[in-house]
Parts: sequence; structure tokens; C-alpha cells
Amino acid sequence: MIKKEEIRNLLEKEKQKVTQQLRTLKESDPFEDPTHVTDNASVDTDVREQEAHQRIEAEMDALRKKFKDIDIALKRVEKGSYDTCNRCNKTIPAKRLELIPETIHCVSCEEDLVR
Ligand SMILES: [Zn+2]
Repeated sequence: MIKKEEIRNLLEKEKQKVTQQLRTLKESDPFEDPTHVTDNASVDTDVREQEAHQRIEAEMDALRKKFKDIDIALKRVEKGSYDTCNRCNKTIPAKRLELIPETIHCVSCEEDLVR
């Protein structure tokens, strides 16, 4: 069984990583460039910037979702229910929690939910 302190550490580390990734993505977004509006770029450049912006937005959405999942998982750590599947109440194997600390489902439930 994975210890409360261990899973909390894993989640805090993951949270820092996601925060850093979000910051890096935001900085690479051409729309965040203050000169963007006034740069009179050619249509070509605008299209490229638009595409980059959309890709970055999608990546940021996924990261924000992960951030939320981590917060939910941290609350479960506080309640002591972090290794109990949210769906079937079975124990989530320690190996799975070490790999994906923000998970709230066992493998079979996760597979059911994806389907
Ligand atoms: Zn389950």
C-alpha cells in the first residue's frame, strides 16, 4: 500500500509540473505577445499564429483538467480515500497510483469509463 505522505508528495510534484507547463505554454502563445495586435503581419503569419494559438489552447485545456484532477486527488488524500476507487470502492493498486497519482479509478473502471 502506498503511504499518504508518498502520494501527497507525488501529487504536489505533479501539480508543480503542470503549473510550469501551463506557464511555458502561455509564453509560447503568439496571442500573448503584446506586439501581436499591432504587428501588421501578413495573412500567412496570421494563419500560422491562429493555428499555434489553437494548439496551445487545447494543450492548456488538458493541463487545466489535470490540475483539477490533482486537486480532487489531494482532497482524497486528506480524507484517506486516495486508494479507493471512486466507482466500485475497490482498492486502487499502489503501482497504479505511483504511475498516475491523480487517478480516482481502478483500471477496470477507467476502461469502462473510456469506452
Ligand atoms: Zn473501480
